[in-house]
Amino acid sequence: MSALTQSAVHRSRRVEQLVVGRPTSDGAGVKLTRLLTQDLQRRLDPFLMLDAFGSENPDDYIAGFPDHPHRGFETVTYMIAGRMLHRDSAGHEGLLGPGDVQWMSAGSGLVHSEIPQQEEGVMEGFQLWLNLPGRDKMSPPWYRDIPHVELPQFTTPKGVRVTVIAGTSHGITGAVTRAATQPLYLDLHLPSGSAFEQILPKGHNAFCYVYRGSVTVAGRNVPMQRMAILDNDPEADGVQLAASADARVILIAGQPLNEPIAQYGPFVMNTEAEIYQAIQDFRAGRLG
Ligand code: MN
Repeated sequence: MSALTQSAVHRSRRVEQLVVGRPTSDGAGVKLTRLLTQDLQRRLDPFLMLDAFGSENPDDYIAGFPDHPHRGFETVTYMIAGRMLHRDSAGHEGLLGPGDVQWMSAGSGLVHSEIPQQEEGVMEGFQLWLNLPGRDKMSPPWYRDIPHVELPQFTTPKGVRVTVIAGTSHGITGAVTRAATQPLYLDLHLPSGSAFEQILPKGHNAFCYVYRGSVTVAGRNVPMQRMAILDNDPEADGVQLAASADARVILIAGQPLNEPIAQYGPFVMNTEAEIYQAIQDFRAGRLG
């Protein structure tokens, strides 16, 4: 049976590792939790980073991320609460509100800022970094700002509300499709007592993060604020999640690139020479 027509998961991937995340700060002092850290880049290829931010204390977020460069990969910002203004050196500007997504392909490079547009209240969301294949790393940069009303959503018969940011779930194709890495990015709202299953292609690396409540994955508990790396069992055809209380989970998967990863801060290339070139280009003002 092909993945396109298959509707039920016959064998679920299991939890290989639970990750607590590392409290850190970035930008001009934004407090966040780095869930996907550099030591997991190879294991979770093509994903390079996942940060969760969430605070009702303006001191934790107000300074935002002033002008900084990127080259060689994509960033996906998903706002749960709060407002963030993005502005780049080429004059692009976009305001993200609750539930909105910004998909940015940095490609050959840009300089941008990401600044909260509020002085009080909750700021919460995620930023995921997705690698680009070497052949696309020097492509022109682009953005898509996707308002939450334009994100494909559906509700399963069991009452699970699914937002499809990227990839395809239960026949619903998400807002973004990327050929090289085939990312899947779902936000799942599981009511108490519900279950959800998602087909996952063999060989794709996959993980989920619980940001409300808790779930079980193939019978193992994944508590709130934990990232579960799912195993690559060649016999498994997807993942099964169940919630004994209301839960909210992001589920992410993608096809590994299996290329060398050379990272220096906001530059992610294949070789040290390309990193050196990126730093030179940034210093010379060639990133925008
Ligand atoms: Mn940025």
